[in-house]
Amino acid sequence: MKPFLDSTRDRRASVSRGIVLLLGLFIVTLLNDVASAQSKGAVNNKEKGADKVKSKKPTSDEPNRPRDYRSANFLLHTDLPKDEADELLKRLETMISLISKYWGRPNKQPLECFVVRDLSVWPQGAFPPEGLAKIEEGAGVTLTQTRVLRGTGEIVGAKATVYAVANRGIPQHEAVHAYCGQNFGHTGPIWYSEGMAEMGQYWKAGESRVNCHPEAVRYIRSSEPKSLNAIVNAREITGDSWENYCWRWALCHLLANNPNYYDRFRPLGLGLLMDKSDATFENVYGSMSKEISFEYLFFLQHFDLGYEVTLTAWDWKTKFRRATSSVPVTCTIEANHGWQASRLLVKVDEEFELTAEGAWQLSDDGPLLNPFGEEVETPKPTNVGAAVSKATKPKKTGSKTESKQEALPTMVPYQSNFTPGQLVGVLFNDYELGEPFAIPSNGNFKAPADGQLFLRCEESWNKLADNKGKVNLKIRSRDTN
Ligand SMILES: [Zn+2]
Repeated sequence: MKPFLDSTRDRRASVSRGIVLLLGLFIVTLLNDVASAQSKGAVNNKEKGADKVKSKKPTSDEPNRPRDYRSANFLLHTDLPKDEADELLKRLETMISLISKYWGRPNKQPLECFVVRDLSVWPQGAFPPEGLAKIEEGAGVTLTQTRVLRGTGEIVGAKATVYAVANRGIPQHEAVHAYCGQNFGHTGPIWYSEGMAEMGQYWKAGESRVNCHPEAVRYIRSSEPKSLNAIVNAREITGDSWENYCWRWALCHLLANNPNYYDRFRPLGLGLLMDKSDATFENVYGSMSKEISFEYLFFLQHFDLGYEVTLTAWDWKTKFRRATSSVPVTCTIEANHGWQASRLLVKVDEEFELTAEGAWQLSDDGPLLNPFGEEVETPKPTNVGAAVSKATKPKKTGSKTESKQEALPTMVPYQSNFTPGQLVGVLFNDYELGEPFAIPSNGNFKAPADGQLFLRCEESWNKLADNKGKVNLKIRSRDTN
């Protein structure tokens, strides 16, 4: 465990209590949160976590009194200075528009949020005990009061209130809970509600690449992977931790963005938010559990900031077959994708000859490389089996405005024995991957095991998106029979 996590209170509870009233039943649900990766990192960057709520003083001499700010979907009570309060409201509005679009349900009434920077400027009794406790802890909580009809249990109204410290990320995380609680009456099981609330704070329009808190990357990449079952079927008990939020986020991020699974993820989520009894992970994904486990593990082992699940989704559909000396297996491998199906089924020690044409680049203005990672200035024929580049340099577009995103840093250095741009293979067999191996530039290689051959252009896993080009391959068996 990282030192900065030591002070984390492993405490999280989902408590419900009912108060019977004459006309109906009010149920108050608490979604308590530990200080998130976001706030932990932020706290860590300052000197001390102990005084975190008060540690950031307003810039002016006058302390900021709590004031009310309103936007289309929020009523914000905060002691943040006006410019920061406006900025927070802007971020919350952007997020609410993205998540309400995702869940297909517009927010019905303003979400009330208390966001605290300096507790000392707030009057006594400004918060209920649960809210105060979480603010003192440097975290947040969402209280949802649900009115249900006695007898039928039908939800007839819900009101959610957020109490959170002003650390970046926490108000957004809580606001996701508040939106779900107020508009659906439920927030779903812990893995879903917390995973999606974590996603909510990172959500950007039209972007699926990983941009979570860097500490979440470091933590997951340095940990023994937590199984899918351990996340989805964990008992919802107290004693939860910051670290568990990372695993839940990872699973939700994968399922919400991977084209193999996202079609089913949204309806599953809606079912969970509406408390439908058939909306369970097992019902929805049971038939794909091996595939999900494989891709989930792969994600945990390879992701970093900037990693795109859409470019690395596993190809479960392509059919594989044996090659002969006269009938090659052909395929096209794109530079900007992860492992891709070659269509070739191999037996251990079987020998092959691969010929390639085409070239690729590892960035917009990087050199043109043949499939063996060697620079090719101009199209020129090479030896048998080696690349013949027919690609022309991509035209320099006048402006690079479109699809140009800021580069995100790498948290876990990428390690590889291969040359960047080199064609690399791996064998997939019964949901296990063998050791990757390079295809040598003479094109001759021997299968190290039985399996389906997957290929890719060697490159850091979080830097595939700006790669250009593709290569067409023919693979023949060198065995005579
Ligand atoms: Zn939460």
